Amino acid sequence: MEYLQKIYDNNNLNKEELIGFMKSLNSENSNKLFEAANKTRKKYYGNKVYMRGLIEFSNICRNNCLYCGLRASNTKVKRYRLTTNEILECCEEGYRLGYRTFVLQSGEDMWYTKEILVDLIKKVKEKFPDVALTLSIGERPYNEYESFFKSGADRFLLRHETASKKLYEKLHPDMLFEDRVDCLNNLKEIGYQVGAGFMVGLPDQGYEELAEDLIFLKNLEPDMIGIGPFIPHSATPMGNEQGGTIDKTLIMIALVRLLVPDVLLPATTAMGTLNPQGRELALKAGANVVMSNISPISVRDKYQLYENKICIDDEASKYSGYIEKRINAAGFILDTTRGDSIKYLCLK
Ligand code: SAH
Ligand code: SF4
Repeated sequence: MEYLQKIYDNNNLNKEELIGFMKSLNSENSNKLFEAANKTRKKYYGNKVYMRGLIEFSNICRNNCLYCGLRASNTKVKRYRLTTNEILECCEEGYRLGYRTFVLQSGEDMWYTKEILVDLIKKVKEKFPDVALTLSIGERPYNEYESFFKSGADRFLLRHETASKKLYEKLHPDMLFEDRVDCLNNLKEIGYQVGAGFMVGLPDQGYEELAEDLIFLKNLEPDMIGIGPFIPHSATPMGNEQGGTIDKTLIMIALVRLLVPDVLLPATTAMGTLNPQGRELALKAGANVVMSNISPISVRDKYQLYENKICIDDEASKYSGYIEKRINAAGFILDTTRGDSIKYLCLK
């Protein structure tokens, strides 16, 4: 376990070492890795778990990512868009329940023009000045990202999905890996707290590709990193693939915590979908954020990036008490502040 000591001490390993380390891990010795990641998270963020209220405001998407249930070619999806007022109502309910970060997520839906989004962002921030606003709406030109930031958006989630250009372009018809990287760099330059991340268990993703993901993230130094298992969706071209496992995803979460120790790292819904204890396990492997769905219940079953997503019919109000109990039972404390990244707070 010399690799473990080295990554714990230095928050770094080179590509060969990362591959060697991943290959050496099994169900017995990976517990040591999780403990080291947990200790590192504690050093930076204590026992706190930050809550985000997720609003899935449109499931319409111009893209055709091969893995995603919302891809444009999936004609089985009933499409919807929430209006500015409907989104504001979700925020109101979320605020009442104690959420101080709202994540506005959608497909790449260009119906929401720069003007519509600027107006929405201003209204949310005017009504709830003490809230952090996160966008997760895909690729847009520099000037739009800049206008959203100037209107009050604080953070932006744009997973890089995979750092292998070859795999990226196989999974994303008509999209370029360079564009993804440009977007991430633009978001950073503009001043957002930026989130990248990847899926675990994609076809043709071996240790080499996973090591590239880790090194990509180490170099990018984002504020947030979302990692989840790939879960096949039957109405996509990848419906018959194997998908990612909890065990492998936990290892990647822990490695990310050790490589980028000050990052905000969610225990993703996809983890909870594969295993009822998936999110607790992720927290114990170094994650420190939980996202709750506060979208209107009437649209939730229509926002299926993958199938069998959990919490589709939980009332947000009942759910938030329940999730707090679960977080406490796992040995963590719910933090209801905005929960900015340490890196951001230090630079401010
Ligand atoms: N359209 C935006 C935001 C919504 S998709 C975007 O693409 O950035 C949010 C994330 O869901 C994606 O980044 C992807 O990593 C994840 N996702 C999509 N389909 C998935 C699947 N089948 N299994 C697991 N995660 C998936
Ligand atoms: Fe659209 Fe995002 Fe799904 Fe790709 S992952 S199809 S961009 S919603």
